[in-house]
Amino acid sequence: MAPVTVVTGGSRGIGAATCVRLAREGHRLAIGYRSNAHAAEKVADAVRAAGSEAITVRADTVSEDDVIALFGAAAQRLGPVTGLVNNAGIASALGRLADLDAAELRRVMDVNVIGAFLCARQAARVMTTGGAIVNVSSTAATLGSPGNYIHYAASKAAVDALTLGLAKELAADGIRVNGVAPGFVHTEIHEQTGDPDRAANVVSRIPVGRLGTPEEIAEAIAWLLSPAASYATGTTLRVAGGL
Ligand code: NAP
Repeated sequence: MAPVTVVTGGSRGIGAATCVRLAREGHRLAIGYRSNAHAAEKVADAVRAAGSEAITVRADTVSEDDVIALFGAAAQRLGPVTGLVNNAGIASALGRLADLDAAELRRVMDVNVIGAFLCARQAARVMTTGGAIVNVSSTAATLGSPGNYIHYAASKAAVDALTLGLAKELAADGIRVNGVAPGFVHTEIHEQTGDPDRAANVVSRIPVGRLGTPEEIAEAIAWLLSPAASYATGTTLRVAGGL
């Protein structure tokens, strides 16, 4: 049976590239998105052009009801869910912690932590015959992002703890749980930092001298989801050009 994989935040950036990459391996995709239906439909078209099936589902991962409905739609229209790419996430405006607004702190924690937990919990509930989960973290989790967004870094450290704990909790059920920690990748997320020159300003910090592409992150996610990674669980793979 073809794997059925839910990708949250599948409409743009790393999530979109992951959907297309997984389609080439025969995954049927449930493409979750928050608001950009047009972008999600374009990704679904690309999945179909690659020879697989896709549905798009508007699902804000902060909403418990939306998350349950996303997995329900995937199972009903594509078959039993066997994979989750827990990718939906947001960045934040750059600044020091002393200047951080409490509402912004809560917003980032809501999407990056609560949303990721709700999706992982739903995957754990529905993957009754085994499966694989990949949580999208960030190198920020281990670098701390001082002066930029410590709260974003902390939200991704929580994702790493989720990966570690859930991998151990679900190992006996045949469900592997891993993470991918990208460094700086060319996507629209950087527009949220408020720095129009973000890419140019970070490149000097990256040992390989360039930002990554969403496709390079998708490769790692696809491997961790695949049977080729059958002995890998509880690990977070850094894909960050040496960062
Ligand atoms: P992006 O281009 O901004 O795309 C974000 C995606 O997440 C979009 O599909 C968006 O949906 C969706 N999304 C955002 N909030 C959501 C919510 N509450 N519920 C459901 N979907 C939501 O971002 P990206 O760069 O691909 O980032 C993907 C992941 O990689 C994130 O977890 C991010 O933290 C992580 N990451 C990125 C980088 C980087 O340099 N790009 C580095 C490290 C880690 P809509 O299209 O509907 O808005």
